[in-house]
Amino acid sequence: MPELFRAARILPMTPGWPQLEDAAVVVHDQLILDVGSFADLRRKHAGPVRDLGEVTLAPATFNSHTHLEMSHLLGRTQPGQGFVPWVESLLANELYALDEVRVRTELARLESRGCAFVADISTRNAPRLAELLAGSGLFFTSFQEAIGNTVPDNPAELLHQVQDVADNVSDSGRGVCAVAGHALYSSGPGLLRAAKAADNARGLPFSLHLAEHGDEDAILLTGKSPFLDLMRQRGFITDYAAPGQRPVPLAATLGLLDERTLCVHCVTVTDEDIAQIKASRASVCLCPRSNAFIGVGQAPLGKLLVAGVNLCLGTDGLCSNVDLDPLGELAWLAEQYPGVLSLAQGLALVTVNPARFFGPLVPGAGRLGSLAPGQLARFSVLPQAVLDAFS
Ligand SMILES: [Zn+2]
Repeated sequence: MPELFRAARILPMTPGWPQLEDAAVVVHDQLILDVGSFADLRRKHAGPVRDLGEVTLAPATFNSHTHLEMSHLLGRTQPGQGFVPWVESLLANELYALDEVRVRTELARLESRGCAFVADISTRNAPRLAELLAGSGLFFTSFQEAIGNTVPDNPAELLHQVQDVADNVSDSGRGVCAVAGHALYSSGPGLLRAAKAADNARGLPFSLHLAEHGDEDAILLTGKSPFLDLMRQRGFITDYAAPGQRPVPLAATLGLLDERTLCVHCVTVTDEDIAQIKASRASVCLCPRSNAFIGVGQAPLGKLLVAGVNLCLGTDGLCSNVDLDPLGELAWLAEQYPGVLSLAQGLALVTVNPARFFGPLVPGAGRLGSLAPGQLARFSVLPQAVLDAFS
């Protein structure tokens, strides 16, 4: 029998629908049958009522960019000093020592806070993380990060590393394994093209850290930067030929920008870059707390909004943040940009916008992100910190 969930306020995040007061959602068999005023729905549906009280109910959230692999690094990196000091502090740790107990705890915490989707990036442990995600209740994309310069003869080989878990992933019906690039200076151009080709061949999403910090611009334009000096010092690179283009034009030149690409960070983008991203139909994932933690500046939120770029929100990993909760990220963003976003505009970054990006590419993702008949019955209750940040 259908069940009615009543709340003082509901933000359906369905285009054209306003915030509803004294409202309800009718749920049957994990699907939404109806959304509207409690009084109307009570007359139409005789099922049991669960009154959630004086809360604001919203769709479950998406964390569009994180690194679960780095969960053991919480509190073990240098905050606020810029990119190179942060990388140095990162390299002082064992980066890829996956702490499965910690990852399971983080996934359970996310679900308990009303998160329904995670896009995870892993350099060394993607097959195991895909299994952990498939074993959780979350919808997901498990990205295997392609880093370095070695280009396989057949781009599909980039997905082979996760093939042994493909059955578990497809059995879950809630996720996909895909390939991501790291960044334009750390994943070679041939490898990035191959990664994008591997994803395109299977209709999968692609992700890339793009325009994250000033060092990235300097590396690509001149080949002179403190980061490259550090990499040479540590023996990670011997020679580097700067392509002589800024990040966004270079990504476009390499054919990496289209509607299946999520550009992560976009802190140093210019007006022309924003126009180029918009024209490419790529989406952008902001990670504002990570940018502040590392000390690289902030993305031009207002300009990205005005340009109509499809904006999502991610936490990055616990090596550059304090938690993985998209609503914590949203509250922080709203506090940093007072008056720039309405509550509905802000909430779109963690609900309907990522559903627009991942929806055509990941099973079930298009049935999240909004509360409407036929959508999955996955909810979040907005914490007071989010409501206060937008008041
Ligand atoms: Zn990242």
